[in-house]
Amino acid sequence: MEPCGLTAAEMRAKLDSREISAVELTQAHLDRIEQLDKELQAFLHVCEDTALEQAKTAQRMIDSGDANAMTGIPVALKDNMITKGIPTTCASRILEGYVPPYQGTAALRLKQSGAVLLGKTNLDEFAMGSSTERSAYFPSKNPWDLERSPGGSSGGSAVAAAASLAAITYGSDTGGSVRQPAALTGVVGFKPTYGRVSRYGLVAFASSLDQIGPFARTVTDAISGFEAVMGHDPKDSTCVSMPYDSAAARIPSVRGKKLAIIKELSSDSVEQGVRDGFRAAVDKLVAEGAIVEEISLPMVEFGVSTYYIIAPAEASSNLARYDGVRYGLRVQADNPIDLMRNTRSAGFGPEVQERIVIGTYVLSSGYYDAFYAKAHRARTLMKKQMREAFEKFDAIISPTSPTVAFKLGELLGDPLALKLADLCTIPANMGGFPAISVPCGLSDGLPVGFQIVCDSFREDHMFSIALAAEQCFGKLPPPPLAT
Ligand code: GLN
Repeated sequence: MEPCGLTAAEMRAKLDSREISAVELTQAHLDRIEQLDKELQAFLHVCEDTALEQAKTAQRMIDSGDANAMTGIPVALKDNMITKGIPTTCASRILEGYVPPYQGTAALRLKQSGAVLLGKTNLDEFAMGSSTERSAYFPSKNPWDLERSPGGSSGGSAVAAAASLAAITYGSDTGGSVRQPAALTGVVGFKPTYGRVSRYGLVAFASSLDQIGPFARTVTDAISGFEAVMGHDPKDSTCVSMPYDSAAARIPSVRGKKLAIIKELSSDSVEQGVRDGFRAAVDKLVAEGAIVEEISLPMVEFGVSTYYIIAPAEASSNLARYDGVRYGLRVQADNPIDLMRNTRSAGFGPEVQERIVIGTYVLSSGYYDAFYAKAHRARTLMKKQMREAFEKFDAIISPTSPTVAFKLGELLGDPLALKLADLCTIPANMGGFPAISVPCGLSDGLPVGFQIVCDSFREDHMFSIALAAEQCFGKLPPPPLAT
């Protein structure tokens, strides 16, 4: 699968030494997508023409000595990121055919850096779900086993990275949607500190939790993917400029680092194979000189229940804009109320409708204090407990997902089980902390993810621990269906 199986860093070296041109590299990826994506279903839209045009621009940048880490590197964006002139559907019928007239910041920064956008990837509708089965179009398939889900909601981007359909891809993580699919497909997935990456042009799901983050096959590539999109953006008032030491981030270091295992996230709620994989990975870190201690963070157990009040509440407000008047789908009626009702009931799938109902309920007078306000108090306590842990520890660690990849259809009838998929990832969103999932081995032939969470804006510390972890866990083989 040369050259698609190379890491982005290796592609960079070959582009710079003129061993390969940006157009050849792009064409090789487009061919691979053509060959494999009928089965994997990672992409909702492939940008053949614009990708080759961007590759030519990238080559000019390389030839004139203006290349950076991302120039000529093939990337893909989850289809909830606004791309000017390129369809953006959020995998929803309500945005079918919507072509944005403006550029989101992530897409803009990638374009400016000379990265080549191959296409837009599949997701659970409006990023609500953990399997991509909630996409209004089709589910994506896990390249480790086509009968299994790649996780979600950013499943398409995870599959594209895992199957080498793109070098670096991007997802959004509100409760785990980058890290959980990364764990299930055996790639690195990373959620930055809330406020580190602009949300301008990320279609809002739960605005106080959403962050854009990269998928890649190595930690080093994830760092490059992150650095290309991070930093203050005047178009997002929650996006700040905070120190980040790019050189320190690239030095692997775990010796003497104090790591806390969260008891509540590595116990019975996690399946045996994942627990074993996690414990074996911890032993490897200890052998490398890490100091590991088990601690209890009792509030973390309320993560899922708190999240499923706060996220739907914010979603119910954010999704009010899809009214049949301003964007996408319109189902005609003879009065405006029916037009909105018909459009929303035809355009939104069942998961989205359920969340709008729950969100509206918990925000309504009489229930607000009992649910929404209480959830916020729980969120504050959860964040406080995690903050206190960061006073004593460099990072907190846990498995990323309580299970390995599950069969497509297996959890659809059990919405609660699907929601528990984010048990280990939600606390980092609640506190706004940066968190990364690194593959740490296989359980019954399926990937297991290892999660590292650090204090806010300490991505540099987190990367250096993740690089050391990646070295001592060893590389996974490529997924059997994408060699
Ligand atoms: N699976 C979670 C949900 O369904 C998280 C989604 C996300 O992070 N976008 O809401």
